[in-house]
Amino acid sequence: MKVLIVEDERKTATYLKRGLEENGFVADVAESGEDGSHLAETQPYDLIILDVQLPGRDGWSVVTDLRRRGIETPVLFLTARDAIRDRVKGLELGADDYLVKPFAFSELLARIRSLLRRGPARQSTILRMADLELDLGRHRARRSGQALDLTPKEFQLLSFLLQRSGEVLSRTLIAEQVWDINFESDSNVVEVHMRRLRSKVDDPFEAKLIHTVRGVGYVLEQRA
Ligand code: CA
Repeated sequence: MKVLIVEDERKTATYLKRGLEENGFVADVAESGEDGSHLAETQPYDLIILDVQLPGRDGWSVVTDLRRRGIETPVLFLTARDAIRDRVKGLELGADDYLVKPFAFSELLARIRSLLRRGPARQSTILRMADLELDLGRHRARRSGQALDLTPKEFQLLSFLLQRSGEVLSRTLIAEQVWDINFESDSNVVEVHMRRLRSKVDDPFEAKLIHTVRGVGYVLEQRA
């Protein structure tokens, strides 16, 4: 079994590599998101251990990119931040599991074995509304069977709208949930992204799913 460790803290990386090798794994180490991405795309691995906080490209960007390229190697995220939002974000982007630092090596090993048992057939969560389909695990969006080419942010935005479909969502809430920022009243980041998202999700199709509720926000729903 071959494992790729993407971790910039050399001490942690060495500790992981040694521990895995003692347990019969072959382990490679990449110290940056770029190197990790490159290795994962060019070498076959059974599992990737991916630190979230990396210099340059972070773990989220790496996993998003891998899934977009159709690389379905199981990913175990290492996160120093025990925030629910971080975990949910990681899982939505296509990670298979996560571990909060610091962790016991025995726990890491148990998670790895469980992921490897599960095999490459990833269980995907699919969100649907009318003919719109969002595969959270594979990070794919389709409408009427056609693939939608969304940026990671647009994907996240659409996933949030779908999870709360039928509910009117304020710009403030969307900004907090999707951008992790405290909303400033003069910021139009939500509007700008919503416009781009609509140009891909709604404009080419007759039935519109994203609706503006004037003065309040947006709702995603099917209207007769
Ligand atoms: Ca790190």
